[in-house]
Amino acid sequence: MKILLLGKNGQVGWELQRSLAPLGELVALDRTGDASHRLCGDLQNLDGLHATVHALRPDVIVNAAAHTAVDKAQSEPELARRLNTEAPAALAEAAQAVGAWLVHYSTDYVFDGSGSTPWAEDAPTGPLNVYGQTKLEGEQAIAAACPRHLILRTSWVYAARGGNFARTMLRLAAEREVLTVIDDQWGAPTGAELIADVTAHAIRQLTHRPQDAGTYHLSAAGETSWHGYAGFVLDSARALRPALALKTRTIEAVASSAFPTPARRPGNSRLDTRRLQTVFGVHLPDWQRGVSRMLAEIL
Ligand code: NDP
Repeated sequence: MKILLLGKNGQVGWELQRSLAPLGELVALDRTGDASHRLCGDLQNLDGLHATVHALRPDVIVNAAAHTAVDKAQSEPELARRLNTEAPAALAEAAQAVGAWLVHYSTDYVFDGSGSTPWAEDAPTGPLNVYGQTKLEGEQAIAAACPRHLILRTSWVYAARGGNFARTMLRLAAEREVLTVIDDQWGAPTGAELIADVTAHAIRQLTHRPQDAGTYHLSAAGETSWHGYAGFVLDSARALRPALALKTRTIEAVASSAFPTPARRPGNSRLDTRRLQTVFGVHLPDWQRGVSRMLAEIL
């Protein structure tokens, strides 16, 4: 099997380089591509993406690249649309032309965040911001152009590599006695490792069960708020490394309105993952398990 991976250095892309390697020949690109083989990995260059797919003729394209800066997307909607809608559309057309599968990631931000029930795949969408809107349009373009697709909607992604919420909380906890964290957005922190491992498993299954194509929700089990997440991170850090000098004694819970941001965010980011678990026979562990593992790695 030949796999083309785009966005190889993002949180999910980095873990996919590991999890996809045993499946076959892996060509992994970041936005700079591979000039020596005339391969383009830049999502802004739609002609380059077409040419790359036609040159490589992969069996599977995995797109882990995206415009993920949610607040910035509000002020650069054209760029967000190019990366999150037009590039996935171009990849879907090219995949269809060469008979490849397209695997793509989307987000809980396609929903309006109302209520407290986990969102099922067929629940009505209603994005609150440019990022969510462009990601939703990307999903729709893929579904229209390439029936052999797998779209995995996930939430609150973290990884040991690069910056993440846990790292920010640890840094602030070293400086401040009181932290203030949002308590009215609920979801499940989901590790890039888990996403990458499930992706590899799903690709294997799709090669002999193409009828399982479609959109699925993939997040860790359980739920928390950012406030609960912060509390777990600090408690775990203290238990793991008692010598850590963390000053924070209190984590105050506040509403999102205390931290105004350019992009509105959904209050309810809970995803119902039963469809993925049933169709692909995977078990999704509690969010605490992956976060604990990430903390053990970074501390
Ligand atoms: P990251 O932000 O970690 O990675 C995104 C990658 O896209 C980066 O490597 C970035 O490259 C790359 N990229 C940006 N612009 C371009 C471009 N023009 N051409 C090629 N590559 C480009 O994202 P994640 O790994 O967290 O996200 C993976 C997927 O999951 C995305 O589809 C995202 O929408 C989705 N998702 C993410 C969530 C999250 O909390 N992060 C939540 C829900 C869904 P560079 O480093 O060079 O900028």
